Amino acid sequence: MVSSSLEELSLTADVLIVGGGMAGTWAATSAAQAGAKVVLVDKGYCGTSGVTAAAGPGHWWVPPDPPGARDAAVANRVAAGLGLGEAEWMYRILDQTWRTLPTLARYYKFGVDDEGRVNHRAVRGPEYMRALRQQVLGHGVTVLDHSPVLELLARSDGSIGGARGLRRQDGGRSYRIEAGAVILAAGGTSFLSHLLGSHTNTGDGYLMAAEAGAEMSGMEFTAAYTIAPAHSTMTRSMAYSFATYYDAEGRELDLPFGPDQTIHLARALQRGPVYCSLHRLPDDIKARLHTISPNVPLVFDRWGIDPYRDRFEVTLHNDGTIRGIGGVRVFDTDGTTSVPGLFVAGDNASREKVAGAISGGGNVNSAWALSSGVFAGRAAARVARSAARRTERLQPLGRTGLRPGGRPQTLDVAAIRSSVRAEMHPFDKNLFRTGPGLAASSRILEDLWSEVADRGHAGTIALREAASLVATARWSVATAAVRNESRGLHRREDFPAQDPGLAARLLSGGLERIQVALDRPSAAARPGQLEAVP
Ligand SMILES: Cc1cc2nc3c(=O)[nH]c(=O)nc-3n(C[C@H](O)[C@H](O)[C@H](O)COP(=O)(O)OP(=O)(O)OC[C@H]3O[C@@H](n4cnc5c(N)ncnc54)[C@H](O)[C@@H]3O)c2cc1C
Repeated sequence: MVSSSLEELSLTADVLIVGGGMAGTWAATSAAQAGAKVVLVDKGYCGTSGVTAAAGPGHWWVPPDPPGARDAAVANRVAAGLGLGEAEWMYRILDQTWRTLPTLARYYKFGVDDEGRVNHRAVRGPEYMRALRQQVLGHGVTVLDHSPVLELLARSDGSIGGARGLRRQDGGRSYRIEAGAVILAAGGTSFLSHLLGSHTNTGDGYLMAAEAGAEMSGMEFTAAYTIAPAHSTMTRSMAYSFATYYDAEGRELDLPFGPDQTIHLARALQRGPVYCSLHRLPDDIKARLHTISPNVPLVFDRWGIDPYRDRFEVTLHNDGTIRGIGGVRVFDTDGTTSVPGLFVAGDNASREKVAGAISGGGNVNSAWALSSGVFAGRAAARVARSAARRTERLQPLGRTGLRPGGRPQTLDVAAIRSSVRAEMHPFDKNLFRTGPGLAASSRILEDLWSEVADRGHAGTIALREAASLVATARWSVATAAVRNESRGLHRREDFPAQDPGLAARLLSGGLERIQVALDRPSAAARPGQLEAVP
């Protein structure tokens, strides 16, 4: 299976999985169980990189008993999703999560509650990811760590037949993998905010999918923000359900817990520093916090702060598409894209149909990452099995940051990253959006894109990451500019109400020129066929 030369490592597989977080590892296991020869590659170390390991994923967990519980859970979620969720998809992921998660018991020790019942819903991120890695290896999957994929490879008919990347710990040597089908599970992006675990998630999977001709969906919903102690990356937020907030003068702020609390907190932060106290946290949670979320108290311990007594400053970090919901458009729960041979799972895929217009954080995202991984793994194994093995020359699809359209030049990657952050993080640009503000961001991002597309030639991981960040920000801003209303995570100061005519998903795509289109039920859009919203 493996042949190597000094120049390039070359492998073949039935199914190639890009990304080894929750979605990628469940996909790898499921494809291997379906009989496929699987290779999984990760930018970092599968088991610690990505957002899953640092989190404490709580899955959407509703057993079939008592009858009616799932109907109620789905009905609530459909209502909360503000017209963009779909009940059938929700039932599917609830059921798959319930069937699949307990199968990890061989590798993961699930906790028990006070009555001795096994708690499957909430798992501890580090142990969970370690178990998922063990499970993948146990199924004979070949894992390449520290091996970011740079670009996809296509057959002459446009279907995806592999990928190419670099082996970071092998002198940057390149590798290529030919595969019957490819699953992109490279996570979402927080646009390099300080969201825990997200630093290497730069939207690479979106750019590669778009280069293959796939579209995005829901990219306007990138305005989820999560609280953290100021000057820290600790964005695990459960304890803040019980927080009390104060301004710099020590006056208590009226920020009642609920869906709008982030908005009120952001407004307060625009006025000045905000301080928090967790003295109202119930004693049983205080007692168990070190066990449930051991990394949460670490920050306070290091600073010598008792968060149940002392006040500490807080901030908000952008979640982008990680607790937001945009991603590559999927046609079914198998993660089928508009590109033959290409599947997506987890945060790499759009989650609107299971999360609606609001964040899927707290439970839906994990259930989606698990289930979409399992579904995509099975489907990709099926496609790979039925695809006749062709020996043909594969075309590399990467352009921006790899193969410049104009005269090559050395680019300041750090400056490009900062520019993207400057458009995607400030509250007055991405949380409280306005038409003129979005137009201004768009101009800056278009210039950045032209610069990287025309001049970027280094072919380095950093430059490809920068290209991915700019591309993702462009789709987000373009879609937000078209959604002339406020709905869920998307807020327009100039259109504060919901528009019933926009209770629909918005597709976006394109590289040189961005296009945005309404996702009409009948529109089986194919690459390059997006039509502008009138
Ligand atoms: C602090 C925090 C807490 C959360 N808590 C919850 C919760 O309680 N419930 C819930 O439902 N959701 C929660 N979420 C969201 C949930 O964790 C994610 O939706 C889920 O983990 C996504 O899994 P994933 O596999 O898609 O992405 P990730 O876990 O991010 O994995 C992506 C992987 O792809 C790799 N990768 C990226 N680019 C490349 C490339 N070019 N080549 C190769 N590999 C690449 C990365 O290294 C990474 O390992 C939380 C998120 C955070 C940040």
